Parts: sequence; C-alpha cells; structure tokens
Amino acid sequence: MTFETSAEHSMISSTATEIATEFGPEYWREKEENEEFGAEFWDELGSAGFHGLLVPEEYEGAGMGMSELGLAMETLCAEGCGMAGTWYLVLTAGMATVGLNRCGTDAQQERYLPDIAVGDRNFSIGITEPEAGTNTLNVATSAEKEGDEYVLNGQKAWITFSDRADNMIIVTRTTPRDAVDRGTDGISLFIVDMDSPGIDVSPISKHGINYSKSCEVFLENVHVPEENLLGERDEGWNALVSMLNPERIGFAAAGTGIGKLAAKTAIEYANDREVFGEPIGTHQGVSFPIAKPYARLEAAALMRQKAEWLYEQGEPCGYESNVAKATAVEAGIETVKQSMQAFGGWGYATEYDVERWWREINLTRLAPVTQQMAYNHISQEIGFPKSY
Ligand SMILES: Cc1cc2nc3c(=O)[nH]c(=O)nc-3n(C[C@H](O)[C@H](O)[C@H](O)COP(=O)(O)OP(=O)(O)OC[C@H]3O[C@@H](n4cnc5c(N)ncnc54)[C@H](O)[C@@H]3O)c2cc1C
Repeated sequence: MTFETSAEHSMISSTATEIATEFGPEYWREKEENEEFGAEFWDELGSAGFHGLLVPEEYEGAGMGMSELGLAMETLCAEGCGMAGTWYLVLTAGMATVGLNRCGTDAQQERYLPDIAVGDRNFSIGITEPEAGTNTLNVATSAEKEGDEYVLNGQKAWITFSDRADNMIIVTRTTPRDAVDRGTDGISLFIVDMDSPGIDVSPISKHGINYSKSCEVFLENVHVPEENLLGERDEGWNALVSMLNPERIGFAAAGTGIGKLAAKTAIEYANDREVFGEPIGTHQGVSFPIAKPYARLEAAALMRQKAEWLYEQGEPCGYESNVAKATAVEAGIETVKQSMQAFGGWGYATEYDVERWWREINLTRLAPVTQQMAYNHISQEIGFPKSY
C-alpha cells in the first residue's frame, strides 16, 4: 500500500482545480437560478479529457481507471462546482463508459467510445420506473423481438439528462418477471437513440440541481436494432451491476467533495465574522460540529479509494462501494448542515451558496441508492439475514 501521489493523480487534481476555479460557485448559482445547462463547463471537461478518462486509448481516451475518475469528481466538487462536479461525469464518463468497456461489442465500442472521449456524445441511464425504484427487479418496460429489431414499451422516471442525451442505456425485461425463476433473470439492456420515434420526455420539477433536468420518459413502440443489445439477452443484470458500483463511487466522491466545499466556505466565514468581539470560529460550538463530520469525510474517502482499487482489479466491490457511499453521504450531509449553521441567517441567503449545496446534497441520500438500501446491503454482508 502506498499513499504517494502519482504524476497522473497530481495532473488530474491540478486540472480539476483549475476548471473548478473557472466554473466556481457564482457560475453554478446563476445556472441554478436560470435552470440552464452548464454547456461551457461540459465543453471544458471535454477539452481537459475528463469525459474520456475511462475510455481505452485505442478509442482516443486516456485509458485510466476508476481512481482517476473518483479523484476528478471529488476535486471538481470540492474546489467550487459542488454536485455538478460529479453530475456531469457520472453518467457518460462513468456508467455508460464502463458498460461499453465491459459488455459492449466491438462495433458498439467503435461507434460510441471515440465520441464519448471528446465529449461529443452523452448518455442517460434509464433504470427507475414509477413502480421500480428501490426494487429494480420490478422493472416492467418490455422489449419484444420482432425480426431483427426489438420493440420497447413502458415508462421510466427520473432519468437525468434524458432531455438532452444522445443515447440512453435502458433496462428492460425481455422475459416478464412472473416467467423467470430468479428476479434477476429476464433483464436486458439496450442502447437507445433518443431521437427514435415513440420516445417522449417530460422534465420533473425538483428541489435542487436545476442546471440539469431529470425526466419521465415514455416509450411507445420504440424500435431498436438488435445490435443495440448491450450484453446478453435476459442476462442484463450482471451488466447493470457492473455500472452501479461506479455510480455509488461517484456519489461517494460527491458527498466528500460538497462537504469539503461547504466546510471551506464556512471556515473562511467563521474566521472573519465577529459577534461577541472575536471570530465565531474560536467557539468550539461552531468548529466541532464541522470538524467532526469532516473527519468522517476523510475516512469515507479512503474507503472509496479501496472500492475504486477493487473495481480496477475486476474484484467484487459492492460492499466497499456501499460503505463508501453511505458514510460519505452521511458525513457530507452533516458537514453541509453545520456549515449552513455557521452562517447564521446568511446561510439561508442564496448569495452564500451553502443553501444550494444543502439542496444538492439531499439528493445523495436518495439516489443512486437510498441510504436504507445501502445499509440493507451492508447488514447482509456483515451477517444479518437478507431483508429485501
Ligand atoms: C434528482 C434525481 C435524479 C435521478 N436520476 C436517475 C437516473 O438518471 N436514472 C435512474 O434510473 N434513476 C434516477 N433516479 C431515481 C432514483 O434512483 C430513485 O428515486 C431511488 O432509487 C428510489 O426509488 P423510489 O423513488 O421509487 O423510492 P421507493 O422505492 O418507492 O422507496 C421509498 C422509500 O422506502 C424505502 N424502502 C423501500 N424498501 C425498503 C426496504 N426493504 N428497507 C428499507 N427501506 C426501504 C426507500 O429507501 C425509500 O426511502 C433519480 C432520482 C432523483 C431524485
């Protein structure tokens, strides 16, 4: 084990810091208020090569691993972008790329990966449905074979980026749940072109992260060529799981990053603001509530690095990814909450950003896996009976 910083990690960290300084809190405050996509930020991530961190070199990417992607996301979040640091990378640069790397055919990799590497193609990931959130196995969107095509029908909910994505990796059933022995059987993944006839997208009004939409997606007789099947027919569960751990790792990076950003901002304020003739930061009633969860953030980041390392070795990392996600999110939420408290009434004002980070970090306890489901999994791994 080594904690030396490699040349690649130093470069990623300094590049991410530069970008986050350029696209700092003021930029995101405005994007949030105007509910406007950060197109300039997306392009900048492309110029820096961040969209292609996991894309193999033969497809014009950097050929790097999950630890580099996690580091990029945490640094972008912590140095000024807040949730956007993860949000703009986790779906395409993370989930879609690992899905294509691990399960894509040569033709699929050739078609999509070079565009992903330069930021010219973005993906949404369609898992959730109105009746299939925490219980993914309830997915009912159907894919029926007709000649050399599949015809998709169903409804997805909360699909982030689906209003502007070029493609969606969609989770369907090619065999209904009541016709399979195990709920994990009968699931198939497809790569869908979002401009296919029969797709209708409708944004959901939401609590935060309004610089990007999450939408309901309706599919009515959407024709998808059979070569767009990602992985094996009826065995898509494994392909899906290979994408879910990177998503948990990404949200662990976000929890740590936003927590550190809020703490840094609050500490600056607490060193400056005087109430009873001395800076409020001299009171342990202000500093400890931030320092304690901050310490837990540091520990959670180490667990995330273990999950990233296991993922890169091709080893199981579900337990470590869930521990990293659950702990980073809990510590991040507490850090943001206590940072907001340090601002007193001004924590409620949009100009100090901390109320926006509070709205952003609230998402991480609900998605991509709820805290309860992460703890259900952890409970099972440490010996409790399976409860779901
Ligand atoms: C802003 C946003 C963006 C999103 N983006 C995407 C996306 O891009 N793609 C996508 O596919 N999905 C996306 N999601 C969906 C998200 O993954 C789901 O909302 C989440 O998995 C929870 O599902 P649900 O809302 O249906 O909750 P439900 O499944 O209805 O659960 C409700 C509550 O009950 C709890 N619960 C249920 N069963 C148990 C149990 N056995 N033990 C303990 N607690 C339990 C849950 O933890 C939860 O608190 C997004 C959601 C949001 C809010």
